[in-house]
Amino acid sequence: AKARGGNCLHFYSQQMFDHFQNRLALENELKHALAQQQFAIHLQPKIMLDTQRLQGFEVLLRWQSPSRGMVPPDEFISILEYARLMIPVGYWVIEQSFLAMQQLQHAGYADITIAINLSAEQLMDKGLPSYLDTLLQQYHLQASNFELELTESLLAQNIQDTITTMHQLKAMGFLFAIDDFGTGYSSLSYLRQMPVDTIKIDKSFVFGMLDNQADFDIITSTIAMVKKLGLAVVAEGVETQAQCRMLKAHQCDIAQGYLFSKPVAASQLLAHLQANLDE
Ligand code: C2E
Ligand code: CA
Ligand code: CA
Ligand code: CA
Repeated sequence: AKARGGNCLHFYSQQMFDHFQNRLALENELKHALAQQQFAIHLQPKIMLDTQRLQGFEVLLRWQSPSRGMVPPDEFISILEYARLMIPVGYWVIEQSFLAMQQLQHAGYADITIAINLSAEQLMDKGLPSYLDTLLQQYHLQASNFELELTESLLAQNIQDTITTMHQLKAMGFLFAIDDFGTGYSSLSYLRQMPVDTIKIDKSFVFGMLDNQADFDIITSTIAMVKKLGLAVVAEGVETQAQCRMLKAHQCDIAQGYLFSKPVAASQLLAHLQANLDE
């Protein structure tokens, strides 16, 4: 038993060592990724359920690593945060989003919004409001064309500072969405204190909504509550017509998911729109 225990211990520490090595390697690669233009933004359409028209897009970061290929954000965003790289990369994402919005407006898409995910340290960065203000002037865009997506877990930290910054950005005209709604630990009271425009129901509830009564009840009661508060509600991860019909029947405003489109590279967005979404 002793020898076995020893082996187990050795096995786990080898695994932990490999994991640590890999994280270090990722961190080192990510340090150069921005300068080496390995990042890209992809945009995923959001569709208004009453008219089936395009409401806007969510911007999703992609890392094309020369050695690893396309690495999903869930595997590198936490490392960017840990390595204090999320602020510069986040600023780059924001500027690319402004560029995409400018191109969309030139192509005639006037009334759409682009949603940008913000991490906690980005929102806490003192330079954020002035950076956004500079970009608005440089690209001749309205703040109301942009929605900033914050997660519930982010809202649990530094709550007073967060509320102050949100009100400052709201006064500039930016919209706010609460992302992954229903998965965090925070209380609903932030909906009263924070200038929130939109709630995004997490895709885990959408995936289960037609098979699982609890998921269905959570979705329909969340939609009812959110609408009662006068906010817009987005369902993410919509993959089937059946989910879409049910969401529409329960007055969900907006849907996003593979049913309509996967996220599309910014460089291909206009061609993609012409081929798929134009009426
Ligand atoms: P999120 O903000 O909840 O983004 C939605 C995720 O769901 C995206 O994953 C999107 O590709 C995926 N998705 C959309 N529709 C469907 C569907 O119908 N089915 C399925 N199975 N998935 C769908 P992605 O692109 O892998 O991003 C993962 C997470 O990484 C995001 O979750 C977000 O938290 C984070 N992230 C992505 N880009 C950024 C960024 O620029 N900044 C920050 N701070 N976080 C980001
Ligand atoms: Ca999001
Ligand atoms: Ca989400
Ligand atoms: Ca998520």
